[in-house]
Amino acid sequence: MRLVLLGPPGAGKGTQAMKLATHLGIPQLSTGEILREAVASRSTLGLRAKDVMDRGELVSDDIVVSVVANRIDQSDTANGFILDGFPRTVKQAEALDQALAARGIKLDAILELEVDEAALLDRIRGRAEAAAKNGERIRKDDNPAVFKTRLDVYRAETAPVTKYYRSQGLLNTVDGLQSIDVVTEELAAVIAKIAPYHMRAEISHVPGPGKQAACNARLSSGSGWPRAGSDQ
Ligand code: ADP
Repeated sequence: MRLVLLGPPGAGKGTQAMKLATHLGIPQLSTGEILREAVASRSTLGLRAKDVMDRGELVSDDIVVSVVANRIDQSDTANGFILDGFPRTVKQAEALDQALAARGIKLDAILELEVDEAALLDRIRGRAEAAAKNGERIRKDDNPAVFKTRLDVYRAETAPVTKYYRSQGLLNTVDGLQSIDVVTEELAAVIAKIAPYHMRAEISHVPGPGKQAACNARLSSGSGWPRAGSDQ
């Protein structure tokens, strides 16, 4: 199962990607996290990305595309992955399609979290306040001025990615203003709908009964997770 989570900064992509990754047993690939780790370790990548990230702007397409291409070649992505924070430009989306095609694989679905801007600003304020209260490190780009830049960049660069995937018939949109668990349930329902044929394709080379049931069981494990193929 190869998924992309799309949505503006603060929409909850990271939270949902983590929950889905756990349920589906596939890794969450967050370009933001990979870049933040690179910055913390002062690697060449981190040194190149740091200032751009602090300003809330985008790291160059070439850099991010090569980071993702290397990451999807690691063995833990054999059964799929959830991309979180990538692609963020149409160029990145095109490069991703090419990279996947070169490996003989493709995306199964795009999951978009829709959240309006006023709610996002409230959330980001809340996130910074909660982090300060708990003595956690506040992300340098989680302050109102930089957040506004991140939203502007999203509108200009990333919103068109939604159109790109809609035209491919891959886009599924969920209301990201609902509670975390309800959003997860709705995303799970989308996945359950596309999963049956996806899983059949992936396990078609494995003879013997029971494989589909095993996949369904994995998808429906955990409360609130609909069975693959159901309309819940
Ligand atoms: P959020 O989605 O909350 O804005 P992320 O953690 O996904 O934050 O990303 C943080 C920062 O990392 C971005 O503002 C940007 O500078 C950089 N970044 C992450 N992913 C990409 C990407 N795909 N392309 C370019 N820059 C990226």
